[in-house]
Amino acid sequence: MQSRKRVLVKFSGEALAGETGFGIEDSILKFIACEIKELILNDIEVGIVIGGGNIMRGALAAKGGLIKRTSGDHMGMLATVINAIAIQEALESYGLDVRVQSAIQMEAFCETYIMRRAQRHLEKGRVVIFAAGTGNPYFTTDTTAILRAVEIDAQMVIKATKVNGVYDKDPKKFDDAVFLSTLSYDDAMKDSIKVMDDTAIALAKDNALPIVVCNMFESGNLLKIIQGDTSLCSIVKN
Ligand code: UDP
Repeated sequence: MQSRKRVLVKFSGEALAGETGFGIEDSILKFIACEIKELILNDIEVGIVIGGGNIMRGALAAKGGLIKRTSGDHMGMLATVINAIAIQEALESYGLDVRVQSAIQMEAFCETYIMRRAQRHLEKGRVVIFAAGTGNPYFTTDTTAILRAVEIDAQMVIKATKVNGVYDKDPKKFDDAVFLSTLSYDDAMKDSIKVMDDTAIALAKDNALPIVVCNMFESGNLLKIIQGDTSLCSIVKN
C-alpha cells in the first residue's frame, strides 16, 4: 500500500540546455538535482520524465524530407535516454539512489521499463527516470509523463517549465493576459493555452490526474507545491 506522496515531474529537454537551446548544462543539472533531493528528503516518491527537444525532435528531423518521421521519432526517443543518463549522474552526485528505466530495451545503459519494478524502486526511495518516451513514434514525452504517472499511481504530474503557470493568452504578447490558477482539461486543450498536447490531456482527463504547471527555476517551488501551496502554480483538474 502506498502511503507517501508520489509525484511525477516532467522536464522538457530544452530546460536542460539553458540559454543556448542545445545540449546539456551542468549548472541546470545541479539545480534539478538539488530540487529533487529536497523532495526525497521530505519523504516524497519521485518519478521523472525527461524530454529530448534539446537534442532531437522527430518532426524537426523529418522536415528536410530525407529522414522519415518514424526514424526521426526514434532519434528523439534516443535523445531522451541521453538526457536521462545525465540527470541520473547529477542525482547520484547528490547522493540519491536512481534508476533509469527505458521504454526501449537498452540493457547496457539502463533497465527496461517494468511498471511493478518501477513501483518497488519508488517505495524504496529511489528516483525513477522514465526514458525513451512511450517507446512509440508519434507521441510526446508529455503524453509519456501522463501515462507513466497513471501507471505508477502518482497523485499529480508536475510540468516544470520556465514560466509561473498558465495564462489565458500569451503574456509576452498581450498585456491583459490573465493568470489561471485552476483550469479544466478542456480549457487546457485550447489552442491559445495548450498546456500539453491533446493526447496527453485526454489521458489525464480520463484518469482525473491533476497536471500542475509551475516554474522549475524558482528554488523550493516543487516542494512547496507538493506540500499544498497552490499560489505558486496553475492546476489542470476536473
Ligand atoms: N518521442 C516519440 N515518442 C514518445 C516520446 C517522444 O517519438 O513517446 C520523440 C519525438 O520525436 C519527440 C522527441 O522524442 O519530438 C523528444 O520528445 P519531446 O518533443 O516530447 O521533448 P521535449 O519537448 O519535452 O523536450
